[in-house]
This record gives sequence, structure tokens and C-alpha cells, in this order.
Amino acid sequence: MKAAPAAQKRLLDLAELDSVIDRLAHRRRTLPELAEIDDLSARVARLATQVIAAETEAGDLAREQTKAESDVDSVRIRAERDQKRLDSGQVTSPKDLASLQSEIASLNRRQSDLEEVVLEIMERREAADEQVTKLAAERDRLAGLRADAEDRRDAVFAEIDKENTEVKGKRGTVATEIPADLLSLYEKLREQFGVGAAMLQGTRCLGCRTSLSIAEINSIKAASHDEVLRCEECRRILVRTPESGL
Ligand SMILES: [Zn+2]
Repeated sequence: MKAAPAAQKRLLDLAELDSVIDRLAHRRRTLPELAEIDDLSARVARLATQVIAAETEAGDLAREQTKAESDVDSVRIRAERDQKRLDSGQVTSPKDLASLQSEIASLNRRQSDLEEVVLEIMERREAADEQVTKLAAERDRLAGLRADAEDRRDAVFAEIDKENTEVKGKRGTVATEIPADLLSLYEKLREQFGVGAAMLQGTRCLGCRTSLSIAEINSIKAASHDEVLRCEECRRILVRTPESGL
């Protein structure tokens, strides 16, 4: 393949711009904020599950408390009714009186036991409510940190994307100055090796940093200036410049 030395030199500008594009893409992929956001998202999701479990427990205890309080009420109502009968003086037989008094005493003991149960449920419910508040606050705190990290990520993304657009614009202009067959070879090599062209500096390929053999140097010296050369080592297009001295 042959191409004017000026067009070959433009390949080096293209390679330079492509390496900037690669660096930008790498920076976008490996932004520390991305790992931070993933980590925070996992923690927020775990906490959200824990909040639901704690809310379910608190809800169960609230229902248990209502049920226990209604048990207390029904025992208290029965005791009050018995007490009214006792106070009314309508029950006169000593046997019925004794039985009524014994039932009132038993209902009072029962009410006291049930009130203990209510207190115990209330304590557990209070602890469960506190747990809900604590977990939800931690979940919200981490969600806030994640939102901050997302803002930082978006700011860097915008910066990278702006630079990328500029570099791609320049690249488009440079590419128009390179003949189609040379450009297509460059693109193929870039796809294969990451970099499509490298400068020959002295006797070294700057693509793979290998020094060329005497035989290669001699064949380069013999080649015409518009001959498109390739590095024997890395296969990239080897571009001669005034710095090559060849
Ligand atoms: Zn090379």
C-alpha cells in the first residue's frame, strides 16, 4: 500500500486522538463513584428489607396489643357488672353472695394478669417501633449518600462526554485527510491491537518499543517515502517522520 507521507503522518494524530478517546472511555467505566453507588444500592436494598420486617413485627404487636386490651376490657366489664349486682343488695342468699364475691376476686386477678400482658406487649412494640425508626433513618442516610455519589458521577460523566464529543469532532476532521484504504487498514489494526499506527523514532517502533533489526532498517531505508510500512513486531503501521532520521 502506498500513501503520501503527509497522510501517513496524519495517522499519528488520529492515533493520539484515539488514545484520548480510549482513556476517556476507560475513565467512564472505572469511575470510583460507580463502585460506591453499587455498594450503597446494595446496602439501601438490604435496609429496605429490614425496615419491612421491622414494620411487620411492629404491626403484629399493635394488633396483639389491641386484642389484649379488649380482653382486659371484657374482664373488667364482667367484674363491674358483678360488683353492681353485689352493691344492689338483690343477692341475699349467703351461698350466692359468697360465689359472687369469689367470682369478682377471680376476675380482678385475671384483669391484673391481662394488664401485665398488655404492658409486656407495649414494651415489645415500643422496641419494634424504635427499630423501624432507626433502620429507616439509616436507609434514608445511605440513600442520601447514594444520591450525592450519583450527582458526582453525572457531573464527571458530563465532563467526559463533552471532552469525548470534542475529540471525536477533531478525529472526524483528521480522518477526512487520510485516504480510505489507509484509514480502513488503520481501523482494522486498531480493532485488533488497540492502536493502529506508531511512530518510528530512530530505529525504534514507539508502538511496541522494540528496536528494529539492521535488515528491517535497511529495507525501510530502501523503501520509497510513500510506501506504507508495518512493524514486524507489533504489526502496526510504522510512520516515518523527520525524527525517524530514515
Ligand atoms: Zn511495533
